[in-house]
Amino acid sequence: MRLAGKTALITGAASGIGAACVGLFKSEGARVAGVDLSKSDLVALDNSLELSQSLDVTDKPAVDAAVESIAESFGHIDILINCAGITARHVPSGLSWDQAWQLVMDVNVKGTLLITAAVMNSQRKGGTRGGSIVNMSSIYGQVARPSFLTGGGKPDPYTHSKGTVLQMTRDLAMSGAPDNIRVNALCPGFIETPMIQGLRENPETLDALIELHPLGRLGKADEVARCALFLASDDSSFVTGTSLAVDGGYLAV
Ligand code: NAP
Repeated sequence: MRLAGKTALITGAASGIGAACVGLFKSEGARVAGVDLSKSDLVALDNSLELSQSLDVTDKPAVDAAVESIAESFGHIDILINCAGITARHVPSGLSWDQAWQLVMDVNVKGTLLITAAVMNSQRKGGTRGGSIVNMSSIYGQVARPSFLTGGGKPDPYTHSKGTVLQMTRDLAMSGAPDNIRVNALCPGFIETPMIQGLRENPETLDALIELHPLGRLGKADEVARCALFLASDDSSFVTGTSLAVDGGYLAV
């Protein structure tokens, strides 16, 4: 068991990649706390979660209080997996483009930063025990989206946010290194989760997406969770400030 004796906090734990991390990390021996926007979405996972609570990662006082209470219950938070995230498709209709941009940046960038900062502060109190933090960037942290996905013309806040997450990962890795806190990122391609459900329902779009992945299919949440496990565990003890593409070859073309 690769996470025996470890504790993990997972955001966006009720769905998709976060939920896959919950199951895998439990099976590898970790004690797992999960947070997500809605407590009711976490109920289905309650059997596998030692602690769960609703949390909006953009709400700093709530984030600080949640991290403090989880750290107190666990004694130390070894691992943080930042899965909470949205795309412009999740923004309420009727917002102007700059309001939509701000909302995506708030969740994907500020939310990731707030909870990472709180967990790193808490990990520093654990002396050399340190920790491992895994941020969820995207292939679209590294390349622009094709126009059939953006509709063309408007700024694409998702790519802006995921590029920022990569640079934030490098910066936070530097500040965490003296305290043995490693910070890395994953860059998934298109993964079959509720996040991309709308795209998968259109057969033409689905075919076009599959075409972009040389392995000839979309990825599964569990395939991303297994890479998160590598970065979270001591298997990657000399890896920090970097990113791993989990993309079926998307970025290699
Ligand atoms: P998902 O199934 O939609 O799960 C995301 C979870 O985050 C949802 O449960 C969502 O809650 C929650 N969330 C949204 N806003 C939040 C907030 N302010 N505070 C707390 N939780 C919040 O998506 P996923 O595919 O697993 O994606 C996980 C991460 O991987 C995201 O950062 C995403 O950008 C990234 N990623 C995904 C793909 C992909 O193809 N799926 C590719 C590359 C990167 P609600 O459902 O209640 O909104």
